Amino acid sequence: MKKTNYSDVWIIAEQRNNKILKISYELVSRGLLLARKRGCRLCAMIFSDGLNEAELVKLSACGVDTLVSVEAPSLKYISPETYSACICHLIDEYKPEIILSGATSTGRTIMPYTAMKMHAGLTADCTLLDIDETTGDLLQTRPAAGGNIMATIRTPQLRPQMATVRPHSSETAVPLSTFKKDKIIRFRPDDSLLFSQIKCEGFIPIKEKCGIQDAKTVVVVGKGIKKAENISLVRELADALGASLGATRDVVDRTWLDYSHQIGLSGKTITPQLYIGIGVSGAIQHLAGMQTSETIIAVNNDPDAQIFKVADFGIVGDLFEVVPAMIKKIKENRGLEILNQRDV
Ligand SMILES: Cc1cc2nc3c(=O)[nH]c(=O)nc-3n(C[C@H](O)[C@H](O)[C@H](O)COP(=O)(O)OP(=O)(O)OC[C@H]3O[C@@H](n4cnc5c(N)ncnc54)[C@H](O)[C@@H]3O)c2cc1C
Repeated sequence: MKKTNYSDVWIIAEQRNNKILKISYELVSRGLLLARKRGCRLCAMIFSDGLNEAELVKLSACGVDTLVSVEAPSLKYISPETYSACICHLIDEYKPEIILSGATSTGRTIMPYTAMKMHAGLTADCTLLDIDETTGDLLQTRPAAGGNIMATIRTPQLRPQMATVRPHSSETAVPLSTFKKDKIIRFRPDDSLLFSQIKCEGFIPIKEKCGIQDAKTVVVVGKGIKKAENISLVRELADALGASLGATRDVVDRTWLDYSHQIGLSGKTITPQLYIGIGVSGAIQHLAGMQTSETIIAVNNDPDAQIFKVADFGIVGDLFEVVPAMIKKIKENRGLEILNQRDV
């Protein structure tokens, strides 16, 4: 099939318990940028056992030209065989030039499976996406060689081009008022697409332990804290700010905090309003997970630390002096706020 027969950007949206997940809105904002640049349409597909109209309308109204809701009781939970069979069917029907999904456990499972079946290229865990307007080649940028370089990958020969995008690394699209209802297609696949050798017995939910990915403020502790007992100092700062506690890999590797706290290339990506790094050097693998934070504050006793290159505010000093002073000031201000509220 000729490359020219393929057009449009597609995203694979996700739902849980019939609520469309945030990653879907992040993919829409990524997809819209590419579609506008290429002058093509943005379309989406989503799998469920039957999503309600309001959820579909909300996603569609963010600027999605066509939303295909693939519905069957067995599609309630991810199943690589059935999801992939349906995606391949939609690829044959709509011929998308680009397909994006989240680098979530769902995306990381179905995208390689589908790319193999379609003989398509796939770049996992992209942090940046752009498009060559003339050729339609997707420019897929991701950390490579242990995170020491950023590589931009093209798939010039094959279509569709497939990529997964890290959650929390894009803006969240918002619904517009120009929604047209005929853009939603409910597709009920036949039995041949729903055949699976896997029987789903049920799901055990995992409890998110520290909530760093949804927190507005994250205080991150690095190896500069020196030993596990000292983590309580940074935890006190996080508590005073109502923030979540994150960590670098060196802290997690030393088992001072568990893996759920790790931020970076092999941990989580965060985009809080405020990131505060305490004794964090700012290695490239750590920056990969936090540099899209809105405001970055760093405390480090080395004026040449890498973290200062991305920081909006830097404090050069000994964290064991700076952090207690920060906690004292925050508590004083909090006390003044409470007094002021009482006076009103
Ligand atoms: C494939 C791969 C994946 C990786 N993935 C990740 C990842 O997901 N996340 C991650 O974080 N890392 C990751 N790393 C590790 C990364 O390369 C760094 O080793 C790590 O981020 C360093 O952590 P750190 O900043 O806590 O420690 P260090 O680099 O040792 O920095 C400690 C900092 O504390 C400062 N300091 C020391 N004492 C004080 C003091 N008293 N007051 C103030 N400052 C002080 C020092 O000046 C120093 O800058 C990965 C590495 C590889 C190869």
